[in-house]
Amino acid sequence: MHEKCGVVGISTAGRDVARPLYYSLYALQHRGQESAGIVTHDGFQQYEHVEMGLVGDAFDEDDLDSLNGSNGIGHVRYPTSGSVNNCCAQPFSVSFKSGSLGLAHNGNLINTDELREELAALGHAFTSDGDTEVIAHDLARNLLEEDLVRAVKRTMSRIHGSYSLTITHDETVLGVRDPQGNRPLCIGELEDGYVLASESAAIDTLDGELVRDVKPGELVVLHDDGSGFDTYQLVETEQTAHCFFEHVYFARPDSVIDDELVYEVRRDLGRALWEESGIETDVVMPVPDSGRSFASGYADAAPEGVEFAEGLMKNRYVGRTFIMPTQDERERAVRLKLNPIKSTVEGKTVTVIDDSIVRGTTSSQLVELLYEAGAEEVHVRIGAPPIVAPCYMGIDMASREELIAADRSVEEIREEIQADSLSYLSIEAIAESLHKSETDLCLGCVTGEYPYDIEGEQTDRDVQRPVVGHSSADD
Ligand code: AMP
Repeated sequence: MHEKCGVVGISTAGRDVARPLYYSLYALQHRGQESAGIVTHDGFQQYEHVEMGLVGDAFDEDDLDSLNGSNGIGHVRYPTSGSVNNCCAQPFSVSFKSGSLGLAHNGNLINTDELREELAALGHAFTSDGDTEVIAHDLARNLLEEDLVRAVKRTMSRIHGSYSLTITHDETVLGVRDPQGNRPLCIGELEDGYVLASESAAIDTLDGELVRDVKPGELVVLHDDGSGFDTYQLVETEQTAHCFFEHVYFARPDSVIDDELVYEVRRDLGRALWEESGIETDVVMPVPDSGRSFASGYADAAPEGVEFAEGLMKNRYVGRTFIMPTQDERERAVRLKLNPIKSTVEGKTVTVIDDSIVRGTTSSQLVELLYEAGAEEVHVRIGAPPIVAPCYMGIDMASREELIAADRSVEEIREEIQADSLSYLSIEAIAESLHKSETDLCLGCVTGEYPYDIEGEQTDRDVQRPVVGHSSADD
């Protein structure tokens, strides 16, 4: 189950959190459009509302009014290719002997099956095949024996993979980031409380201040009265595995993730793209919206004669092309979504810039469109390295067979999309623009070597799965 999602958690000094949670989910809508949900607690009881669809459709006034309490969490979920699945909408909420729990998860565990089998043998009943429910059951079980912090620590020693979690345990809101910090999570300060969110743009929406990123392996417990938070470094790691694709494609440009403003990173990547493979054409244009910051950095670095122009208009009411399950529908969606502005293109040599090529649908359609609009030459520049392998850590990236770069050289891809030239960015440029070493990044989709021990795949480091059933909080 690939959970590519947005999570949030808020505690205030007595103000109902339903509306601030709702606004922050709006700010994180790009991280998931399949379902949206909120769980709150008022000190006596847990309330929940989870529904399929966009945030704006999932809640009405009455729903928000019914979510009582000044502590709560929220979630937006990304659709997994093809299937719309009601069972996995989040937050997952449940009442156990150890209290009520709500869980919102962004990421993907890779030892879910082992854990589920073990817990099922102990009598736990599961209602979905998702990994979030497994985390909830494991945590609930540990809470029967230990205090909150030790229970979370024990659960962290048993789950393997990527996770940024926001959790309610009765009225206490907590946030956890996996030991490699694969998916983002940050802390913000509000006028009357604190917030945990996948991206800082959600904090801005609430007029809050970004405090800092949650550290890899860290637990953050918000005070129930909104007065502050406590932190516990529950797992120490020497190496992180931050997902570079958050900065390249997934996150909002106005978010700061792991100390880097996404917009600036994309501009730097655009500059690096010019330095590595710049070509002087009459115009440089982005594929809106994802290519925009790259193209502006690229055009900045290019000589004066290269004009930055908007040559493609986007119909913003068409959803992300990935939602379309068949190739035919995906091609149609690109046509619906993008239309060339003839006067910027006609009779010109054109460089078109996008953040990434996955299946190759967008770029081949685009090149065709630009030629039809009268372009003389079409050069394609991509702000990421070729995506050669699938993502197991939470980005819905298509299977290996669908990836155009999985078994083709750059020249073969160029031929396939029929561009005059095609260049990708190097892995070195990615690490440099993120100010991180390559060994602290998850580069699985561009190297085929993962920072996790995934069955049937290569790993780029010395990793070990936790041995399920034998771990303790003191390990
Ligand atoms: P494709 O058309 O399959 O080559 O996909 C590339 C286009 O989809 C680019 O314009 C990207 O901005 C966008 N994209 C890249 N990764 C994803 C993803 N995981 N989900 C949805 N869209 C993506």
